[in-house]
Amino acid sequence: MMVRKGYLRRCLFTSLLLAVMTAGCYSNTTGTSNSNQANSVKNNTIKEYKLVPNGAPELAGGPENKNRNTQPLTLEQLRKKYRSNFHFSGPSTPPRVALTFDDAPDQLFTPRVLDVLKEYKVKATFFVVGNRAQKHPDIIDRIVKEGHILGNHTYNHPNLAKVSNTVFQREVSDTQQTIKKLTGKTMRYLRPPYGNITEEQIKWLVSNKISIVNWNVDSLDWKGLNADQVVANVMGDVRAGSIVLQHSAGGEGEDLSGTVQALPRIIKQLRDQGIELVTVPELLQKPAYK
Ligand SMILES: [Zn+2]
Repeated sequence: MMVRKGYLRRCLFTSLLLAVMTAGCYSNTTGTSNSNQANSVKNNTIKEYKLVPNGAPELAGGPENKNRNTQPLTLEQLRKKYRSNFHFSGPSTPPRVALTFDDAPDQLFTPRVLDVLKEYKVKATFFVVGNRAQKHPDIIDRIVKEGHILGNHTYNHPNLAKVSNTVFQREVSDTQQTIKKLTGKTMRYLRPPYGNITEEQIKWLVSNKISIVNWNVDSLDWKGLNADQVVANVMGDVRAGSIVLQHSAGGEGEDLSGTVQALPRIIKQLRDQGIELVTVPELLQKPAYK
């Protein structure tokens, strides 16, 4: 009984203490001096913001939707958003792989790549640079005659993320016109140089019925790798449905002998795995030209 009385007394004391402390908290916010301070804070900042329709002060950095829209989407986000027009790979069944060659044509490596493809009866996709096509129309002719597909790789090979809309559209259109004049064909695939492209550019291409084709296997052949390294890079990442990036022409001083020598080995190894080698439109099951 005595124990219980002592316990009740301690509870009562604790409750009283809490009540005094809480009252102290309230007295701090309602006291005269603090009330003046609160008003002065209010007066200093009320002029800084306007009220939004819900009666709350506007967010200093602007509304959420305005700010979010100014953040460019990453390539991965763009791929998901425009999945029917922005391709990094194709379906995995049936087991097929598309070999693609960028930066053609030149008179040094492109003919050697074409020789290997002819020998092994492989059809591939060449993303050609407009000014190079203009310079070597005979090689463009050969690419088409031997059953390969032409894609647009811009006219001068700029980094599209860094050029104006006007320049971007001219880069694409000039290449379309050059190839149309040389071959009579209107290309429906574009590979952006360096794989870089903006959302606005994708929208313009889609509205002009051009799909964007990147890759999910990079041979890194532009680094001047030898054949063993090119084979290892491709075979290490490739799977059914892959789009493989290689080059059949380079920039100044770029040696693509490794790609040419690796090509027969890549073709044989993929075929040994039961993979059929096809063009990009065959892989995507879409028309080759417009
Ligand atoms: Zn390129």
